[in-house]
This record gives sequence, C-alpha cells and structure tokens, in this order.
Amino acid sequence: MRGAILYGPRDVRFEERPDPKIIEPTDAILKLSATCVCGSDLWPYRGIDAPAYPTPMGHEYCGIVEEVGSAVRNIKPGQFVVGSFFASDNTCPICQAGYQSRCVDARLMGAEGAQAPWLRVPLADGTLVATPDIPSDDLIPSLLATSDVFGTGWFAADAADVQPGKTVVVVGDGAVGLCGVIAARQMGAERIIMMSHHETRQKLALEFGATDIVTERGDKGVARIKDMTDGLGAHSVIEAVGTQEAMMQSIRSTRPGGHIGFVGVSHGVQLPGEELFFAEVHLLGGPAPVRRYLPELIDLVWKRQVNPGKVFDLTLPLDQVAEAYRAMDERRAIKALLRP
Ligand SMILES: [Zn+2]
Repeated sequence: MRGAILYGPRDVRFEERPDPKIIEPTDAILKLSATCVCGSDLWPYRGIDAPAYPTPMGHEYCGIVEEVGSAVRNIKPGQFVVGSFFASDNTCPICQAGYQSRCVDARLMGAEGAQAPWLRVPLADGTLVATPDIPSDDLIPSLLATSDVFGTGWFAADAADVQPGKTVVVVGDGAVGLCGVIAARQMGAERIIMMSHHETRQKLALEFGATDIVTERGDKGVARIKDMTDGLGAHSVIEAVGTQEAMMQSIRSTRPGGHIGFVGVSHGVQLPGEELFFAEVHLLGGPAPVRRYLPELIDLVWKRQVNPGKVFDLTLPLDQVAEAYRAMDERRAIKALLRP
C-alpha cells in the first residue's frame, strides 16, 4: 500500500509502505474509510519534536474491520469501528479508572501510521468501538472526529468541570477548542466564550454554541474575561494550545475554585509555583482518554445531535496528503480530512 511518510521538516511524501498484518493475536486490521491530519502532526512537520525520519504519520481513523487476530473476542470483521489515538487494553486499573490514554499497555497509534488505506490496531477489543451499523457517508467526518478532536475537546470540558448554567472560556480556536465548544454546550454551560481572532473559526464557534468571542490575547484577553465575569474569572477554562502564553492566559482567566482542562500538547510550559499557589484553581489535563467517551460520543453523532465533522473544512484524496499538511501549516484549513 501507499501511505504518508515524513522525511524531514515540511517534507511529507505519499509512498510505498509495507501492508499492515496481524502481528499479535489481539490485533485487528482495518480498511480505513477516512483519516486526517492532526494539529499535533504539525509539530514534527515543522521540525519541532523531530522524530527519527523517515516516519509514518497519522493517528486518527475509522473504518471497516477486515481481519482480527485469534485472541480478539468482541470485534468482528465487517463492523465499522472507531478507536482513539492510543490503543489500550481497557481492563487494567488505569483504564478501569477512565484514563485509557495512560493504560499500562498503551500503544501510540501514530507508530502504526493511520494516514494510509489500511491500519493495524493493537489491543483491538479494548481499543475499538463499533457503530450500531455501517454509517451513511455523511456521518463519516463526525465519526472520525470522535477518534481524537471531539474526544479531546470533550475530555477538556469534562476536566474543566463544565456545569449547567456556568461560564466557560475556550483558549485555542483549532479543531479541539472548537469541539470543546460543542462539549460545553452539550454539558449545559450558559456562557461559552471563545478566544479567537480568526474570522472563519469565530463563525464556526458561534455555530457550535459559543455565546461570546474575545479577540484579545494575553493580559488584554484576561482583562476582557474578568470584565465579562464581574471581575471573578470563568468557572471553567479549556486550554487547547499547549504554549506558555495559552496556559497562563487560562490560569489567569479562571476564578479561584474554578477548573482548567488542559489538552494542548505542552511545549516548554513552565508554571510559576507562587502564582499557581495563589491562583487556587483545579488543573487536570494530558492526552485525552478518548476511549472512555467513545460510546457516548458515537451515540451523539449517530443520533445527529452534534456535528463535530464540521471542523473538517478541507477534504482531499489521501494521495494529496502533502497538500493537507501545507494547508493546515499555513492555517488555510482548520483540519483536513483524507479519503483513502
Ligand atoms: Zn489499560
């Protein structure tokens, strides 16, 4: 088969790769219906966190089960399935507590390279969730979104303890922040303030349920949030960027006793202890345990109560994967969907 391989900074090629096959008896092989480029793929693409090149790319996926290993019990060939960017056994104490992304046997799906027509999924029974039936084509983008961005946005809102009637701030107007708006709306937040200075993303945020847009950043952005919340700050803040500026903006926008869900992959963030001490906020973040939420999120998509697939504002055939990276790198696209 041919799939995406990153050869170096800004050098993605669509090239011959070995066909995936069953290696462990707990594996499944999927024929992918769709895959995509993640905001986090842009870090190695830009030469930050440089991996050992060349490396296969991609960790978001959904599709039809083609084959399963001899120890797979619940997942069957012919099912349409979605899985997270971490494979997990879903049985260890960490999984049972709902933190499948830190499963004692977690496997990073990026290593399998999901930007390809076929994919090996380890720990298939623990990782994959089947849809009630084969989905109609228009549901595929939203089902794909549950694999990472919607699941991550949902975790961020849950970690930020979003509650009915409360005020939520979203820092980061990428696909995850936008999905965080959907989650906050579903969880009953009264006021959802999206911090964004990008017109297309503001529009989508409003469509997803944001009630206010703040275009200022840094200290000015924090001052605006304080103005809007009687000087107190928000009850809940979703941080979906991963930079020092975004993290401090999030902490300073949260009222004492409030909660921050931080899901932007941390890059060089250092928290000042004394400010953190007196901020008196709850902090929970990390790689989202998407597997915990998959059944609920698939159900919401299946019943057409949410449409997170709208974050895909560019769809390309898989062989144009290099253009998908360029479009996201240059912020011409929020998120690019790839059709094998
Ligand atoms: Zn586990």
